[in-house]
Amino acid sequence: MKKLFLITIVCLLMAPFSGYAHNINIPKDIKDLKLSKITDNIYVVHGIQGMPDKSNKGFISNSGFVVSDQGVVIIDSGGSMEVGEMLLQKIAEVTDKPVIAVFNTHLHGDHWLGNAAVRKAYPKVRIYAHERAIERLTAGEADQWVDIFTQAIDKTVVGKAVLPDTALKGGESIEIAGNTYNTHHTGHAHTDNDIMIEYPADKALFAGDIVISGSVVSAARPEDFSAKGQIAALEYALKLPVDTYIPGHGPTGGREIPEATKRFLEVLYESVQTYYDEGLADFEMRDKVVADLKEFSDWSGYDGIGRLISFVYQQIEAAEFE
Ligand SMILES: [Zn+2]
Ligand SMILES: [Zn+2]
Repeated sequence: MKKLFLITIVCLLMAPFSGYAHNINIPKDIKDLKLSKITDNIYVVHGIQGMPDKSNKGFISNSGFVVSDQGVVIIDSGGSMEVGEMLLQKIAEVTDKPVIAVFNTHLHGDHWLGNAAVRKAYPKVRIYAHERAIERLTAGEADQWVDIFTQAIDKTVVGKAVLPDTALKGGESIEIAGNTYNTHHTGHAHTDNDIMIEYPADKALFAGDIVISGSVVSAARPEDFSAKGQIAALEYALKLPVDTYIPGHGPTGGREIPEATKRFLEVLYESVQTYYDEGLADFEMRDKVVADLKEFSDWSGYDGIGRLISFVYQQIEAAEFE
């Protein structure tokens, strides 16, 4: 009885800090994609968990948008031209205002290939990304992403590369259509070019793939990430004055969402460190690390965890020689 009382008190205490109640169901199929109203002005279409394929058309990450009197701002346009078109249809369900700006949170194809559809519909739209994302995409990685998604889906679905045109460093406060957007970059994390977009009016953070929930973190592209750097970025995100966290993949929610991503990475890092210290090779520790991560066993993407472990192992090895 006493315990129940305590739990009730804790829940009551936590309630004002947990942001909006959401109950987001992650769709299994492209037919089930739906628009979720997150705050007064923010909507998110949550993507399907997994790698791009013919059935999901590359709608594997979350696309969000903010509606204001003067126009719409998109955060991440999706993984193909067709996904971008689907997003524009979803936007049309709630407003007839034009899209005036897009933020791409980082260079991974699932977050920007949809730019092609937005630029086609709105030729003057401004597209923001971190300067290093623009640099790397321009230097050849844009074509690689088009190739990867074309192989996985289909050329006509993917479309052509439309790159972000406005470079950010992080730390900017940008006024768009009378609303303020704060950008944050904490160095090498999920990639070396992550931008988190804070929308202070609604106390919300579009975290890109710094925050991933429900699937193995940073496993699709471990060569781009720094485990320690992503943990630091999550600590930073948790200190921002926001109640609502919109992840790059997985359900939107309160602090519990970035806290879970952070815990996943901390358990992963500590586990690999322990077996590294015992002298095990990366392939020898795989099953032990998976066992240490059992709290996350319902998250998808464990097939790729061997590569993720290898990259964390290399980061630990490199740290020993610093
Ligand atoms: Zn992603
Ligand atoms: Zn990513």
